[in-house]
Amino acid sequence: MSKLQGCIKRENGVRSMTEAEAQACEAYAKDYLSYLGIAKTERRAYAEAVRRIEALGFKELSQVDTLKPGDKVYRGYHGKTLMAAVIGTEPVSGGINVIGGHTDAPRIDLKPVPVCEKGGFAYFDTHYYGGIKKFHWLIHPLALYGVVAKPDGTQVEIAIGDKPEDPVFQITDILPHFGAEQAGKKLAEAFDPEDMDLLIGSLPASKDDDDEDIKDKVKLNILRLLEREYGITEEDFLSAELEIVPAGMPRDLGLDRSMIVGYGHDDRVCAYAGLKALMDLPAVPRKTGMVLLCDKEEIGSVGATGMDSTFFENSVAELIARQEPAAGDLAVRRALERSRMLSADVCAASDPHFPNADSPNNMALMNAGGCLIKYTGARGKGGASDARAEFIADLRRIFAADGVTWQAGELGRCEKGGGGTIALYLARYGMDVVDFGVPLLNMHAPWEAASKFDCYMTYRAYRAFLAD
Ligand code: MN
Ligand code: MN
Repeated sequence: MSKLQGCIKRENGVRSMTEAEAQACEAYAKDYLSYLGIAKTERRAYAEAVRRIEALGFKELSQVDTLKPGDKVYRGYHGKTLMAAVIGTEPVSGGINVIGGHTDAPRIDLKPVPVCEKGGFAYFDTHYYGGIKKFHWLIHPLALYGVVAKPDGTQVEIAIGDKPEDPVFQITDILPHFGAEQAGKKLAEAFDPEDMDLLIGSLPASKDDDDEDIKDKVKLNILRLLEREYGITEEDFLSAELEIVPAGMPRDLGLDRSMIVGYGHDDRVCAYAGLKALMDLPAVPRKTGMVLLCDKEEIGSVGATGMDSTFFENSVAELIARQEPAAGDLAVRRALERSRMLSADVCAASDPHFPNADSPNNMALMNAGGCLIKYTGARGKGGASDARAEFIADLRRIFAADGVTWQAGELGRCEKGGGGTIALYLARYGMDVVDFGVPLLNMHAPWEAASKFDCYMTYRAYRAFLAD
């Protein structure tokens, strides 16, 4: 009997790489580590992306009057959301190939009036951002990143906690000796986010530094220090975006160094893969290739810098205006409808310690390549953008032609939970959209884990898609 064709093999694919591919995979992982270590916030992810594409000759779109095939342009929004494109040989109005990821990650933000004193300690009062397990953030060394915008138009950039000489911060927890009451509570109720204050000091102001208006002397000392060392006042926090993230750099995971542990893989691992795929396109593509790095995905893609805004369609309109100046709004709508996107976002990898979360045969396996997720959503595909079969058939053709190792699955077991990505916000234009990204262990934890092979194969998939 002949061998059965078309059977699905779900297995560790690392050893199937040629020696040259294995070297390319390691080099890719190394450069990704360097990006991830810098990109600790969405603003830093944006700035580092712009630095890299400008070095390759990408021009800010507003500086460009006309577009021709092969031109490389980008458009940024509020220093957070980025569109980068390589213009194809066919007109933009015929549709674009898009890789869309996000660069915001779960974290803890400062409240607008954050500086406070309790029991002789100074703290920043906080409000968490995105879906976190709150206890993950207690006791670990934390860093502070962000910007303080002043009414005179100047900005102070803050980055404290990752240089060897920097101090770090901490959210404290109760010792196990007195933890019986906490241990008896449900996990969801044991950690009140209002108690998740960031410890920033314990020294009272000196006698010479006294200010009779401020009774809390440790707070006073911190305010003096902030003024002296950073030039910021308590009022300046009103117009600041300061984010608490894990202190420390991403690094190799495992004795065999096959994995990477880092903060913010979700979704900088896919954002970086998309950006790198666009930067590495070997020739001028037929269709214009675009990468979107979006903000605010973790809180529902809302707001001016999220994908629920008009940033994408405005960007497409800006491109068409420089290619077909006489074409109107209809050309933009047609371009949107004729476009297609890989929604570049991470998914949950099967963890043998939590089999009850797995969708058997349909859970992403680590080291089996990037994972295509046809639909996300929860409870009967609720809220999902469910991709059509014809689009996925075309992706099978593209990935096979390029020798990409990939897998398909869903986010997890039915009724166990669910999630969403930016997919539905782009699918509303009528374009083909499907999720494709890197499987992670401990997704949304301060330190997430990915396999180097999956990172590399996801990049390969994005590159093949953009080049098609
Ligand atoms: Mn994500
Ligand atoms: Mn997420």
